[in-house]
Amino acid sequence: MKKTVCILLLLVMLLCTSCGEDVMENDPNEFMVVTSFYPTYVVTANLMEGTENTKLVNLTDAEAGCIHGYMLTSEDMNMLNAADLFIASGMGMEAFIEKSSFGIPQLELLDCGEDISHELGDEERFNPHYWMNIKNAVDQCEKVKKSLCRLDPKNTETYERNAAEYKAKLETLIPEITERIGKLQNKDMVVFHESFDYFADQFGLNVVSLLSDPNGNALSSEEITQVINYMKANNIKAVFTEKGKTSNDTLDRLKKETGCSVYVLDTLASGKIDGNVKDAYFNAMRANLNTLEKALG
Ligand SMILES: [Zn+2]
Repeated sequence: MKKTVCILLLLVMLLCTSCGEDVMENDPNEFMVVTSFYPTYVVTANLMEGTENTKLVNLTDAEAGCIHGYMLTSEDMNMLNAADLFIASGMGMEAFIEKSSFGIPQLELLDCGEDISHELGDEERFNPHYWMNIKNAVDQCEKVKKSLCRLDPKNTETYERNAAEYKAKLETLIPEITERIGKLQNKDMVVFHESFDYFADQFGLNVVSLLSDPNGNALSSEEITQVINYMKANNIKAVFTEKGKTSNDTLDRLKKETGCSVYVLDTLASGKIDGNVKDAYFNAMRANLNTLEKALG
């Protein structure tokens, strides 16, 4: 009996050790792409649909949101070591890419944020959530396509076809959104985070107040008082936040002191990687339109 227990224990230990040393192998016949977080995954999944001998993996937890300040783990390094291409959103979203090319010589790095317009109204200021402007999403798609074609030429035809379809679908969103936003009674928005700025700027919505600083930190009590006074003076009854940020002291105080309602917008920073992932951008934009109509219509 004792002997059986010992053998079982040994087996369990062996199994555990082999799990721990699960190093991702680089299959030389497979073109492996790693994306940094949800928005880069969504566009790349669309482009890689139907390609042969390819693999697409997302580096971070797709449901965790923006990766400002994310640090690479040893598991991430294993994954990147096995990859042929790493696709970063860029514009500072992945602070870790500025430090080095990870010391992995064979890994190509695509920084999608390079040369993408980060103009917001008259000012040019640092805001890495550029994919929320649909023209920028089209530019990003073109960039990813070029890298995929260059590094995996056997699938060029599929990448080209997928990119043409995806860009056409993105472009049809522009008149649809313009029309629906044009009909809104009210265009003033109090928004929790700057991640909605590009969308608001593209379609003529006014972000009159932000409820956090550019680093996502909460405002001071005095600053919130100013927002409350502004909301009261201008009869603003809708506040917009994003997934995962629906309950906090700032929102509680605004609800209590102004009687406002809180609405959730999808900024595509996070989402599920499931059978609907390829439509994520369109689903999020249309859900946002429904929300805006409910709140500002
Ligand atoms: Zn963010």
